Amino acid sequence: MGVKYSNKINKIRTFALVLIFAGIVIMYLGIFFQTSPFFMTLFMLLGFLSIIASTVIYFWIGMMSSKAVHVTCPSCGKETKMLGRVDACMFCNEPLTLDKALEGKEFDEDYNKKKK
Ligand SMILES: [Zn+2]
Repeated sequence: MGVKYSNKINKIRTFALVLIFAGIVIMYLGIFFQTSPFFMTLFMLLGFLSIIASTVIYFWIGMMSSKAVHVTCPSCGKETKMLGRVDACMFCNEPLTLDKALEGKEFDEDYNKKKK
């Protein structure tokens, strides 16, 4: 892909989307087990749970997104939302930081975990 970092909100939304498709595929696979009610039920249940999990993640990221800090990206000039002390721009993946001390330093996801 070439792009090393991507925006966390975008990443989580992508994950939730993948989960929905995975759920549909899993439920679809259940059709091949029509002869075995146990496996068919199992696949249907797993698929259903994936879709439920995805809905929960969507809801959660919606809440996180509303609490996220709005910043204007210095690279593309668009308003983006960031989570944590370091995040990437939603549009151009430019690494962004809220911490002046980290400005100009190598972008590192670990900065979100470390506290000085
Ligand atoms: Zn940008």
